[in-house]
Amino acid sequence: MKVRDRLPVRRAVPTENPTGKNWSQHKPDLQEDFFHHCGYCGSYDGFRHTYFEVDHFIPKSLFETNNNISYCQYNNLVYSCKFCNNNKSSKWPSGDENVNIVDDKGFIDPCDFEYDNHIYRTLEGGILWHTNLGEWLVKEAFKFDERDVSIKLLWELDQCRKLIEALVVEMNSREVNSEEYNFIKREAEKLSLVYFLNHHELIDYYSSL
Ligand SMILES: [Zn+2]
Repeated sequence: MKVRDRLPVRRAVPTENPTGKNWSQHKPDLQEDFFHHCGYCGSYDGFRHTYFEVDHFIPKSLFETNNNISYCQYNNLVYSCKFCNNNKSSKWPSGDENVNIVDDKGFIDPCDFEYDNHIYRTLEGGILWHTNLGEWLVKEAFKFDERDVSIKLLWELDQCRKLIEALVVEMNSREVNSEEYNFIKREAEKLSLVYFLNHHELIDYYSSL
């Protein structure tokens, strides 16, 4: 499976036109363009404790001295959970803003379909690699391996959320209290319990950190 359900697509013309260090004005556009999920690990932004931030794909430290890229340049921004953003930090192995990858180390823009050639999601929701670069991304850049418990819980929770939402749409398309309506409702109720328990597990996990 892919790490993200859908490839994020940055809009050509952002709604806002911020200058200076006001890149966070792009956050609502990024949230939409990344479908409310972290560009790197694919976690959903609607769960408590998963604060989302605006990451500079090419780190600020690289262009702050030469001004080749502006802080608010939309095509250099990524909607990212704080865990991915913190782990990525100012890492950029080549040290050259024009060179993304050197010796199987480096980054691929999460809006580039190539991102999915290097890492993938297991059936249990964890994140593993196809390539040497993917291994570096998992172990060094984002520490997906160390974050395995929360990454799997967040994925299960998101799958559950999507199923419940789809069932509610189905349910509402049937006649109230019809056999089908009641069947779908019971299935949605069962999943809601799974969702509830998963959510508690996630909160307990974050509290234990
Ligand atoms: Zn993330």
